[in-house]
Amino acid sequence: MAHQPRPLVAGNWKMHGIAASVAELEAIIAGAASRPPSADLMICPPATLIASFAKVAAGSTVAIGAQDCHAEVSGAFTGDLSAEMLKDAGATAVIVGHSERRSLHGETDDMVKAKAMAAARADLTAILCIGETSEEREAGATMARLKRQLDGSLPDTLERLVIAYEPVWAIGTGLTPTPADVAEVHKMIRNYLISKDKAQGETVRILYGGSVKPQNAKELMAVPNVNGALVGGASLKAADFLGIAAAYA
Ligand code: PEP
Repeated sequence: MAHQPRPLVAGNWKMHGIAASVAELEAIIAGAASRPPSADLMICPPATLIASFAKVAAGSTVAIGAQDCHAEVSGAFTGDLSAEMLKDAGATAVIVGHSERRSLHGETDDMVKAKAMAAARADLTAILCIGETSEEREAGATMARLKRQLDGSLPDTLERLVIAYEPVWAIGTGLTPTPADVAEVHKMIRNYLISKDKAQGETVRILYGGSVKPQNAKELMAVPNVNGALVGGASLKAADFLGIAAAYA
């Protein structure tokens, strides 16, 4: 079997967190230092906290990421942030194509691809999210939907890329696919990546995301081709996030 990439457990704080929330980051850093997991750890706070969190996390095993970026380097784009700006603030990664961006901000595969390319341009890891809706799953259209998203949003280079498979119906709902369903999807994604670039395709980390909790992390993280987790709600509390990371004790 091919060499397994080192797992990544990344927390997406979404629009949660103020300066005082640094206490949770400090607790995550301390917990990871006392019981180091065999996985990389990352917290993606709101953009307002990236610079201060990056300073606090400097020298620790916890990386800081961003939740979105604009495709351009700079320009008249009120309210937007470029990948270069996020890097300058201390981020090492950026989530692109999260289902909330796709559904609430009308982001298309083309736009997501441009953002993933921008991340590569700025030397950031892109965490590219794909996932099917419940209607698509019920219609038996999961694989077709995911392949369309990969066709449309995969950047030209797989270097530093991370894919997050996040079924839309599993995000924030407490529902998760069965390990067998996750295995089927992750295998398809792995084969897709290898078909694009044999060497890089083996090393891309494929995260599972959607209602990952300390209680189900071990089972989900044990699925073949699952190389970590993208965690929403459960990443807001240090104890829960560390409990998930402990799947890689
Ligand atoms: C997410 O939105 O990326 C996510 C996985 O959320 P949750 O863990 O809360 O389902």
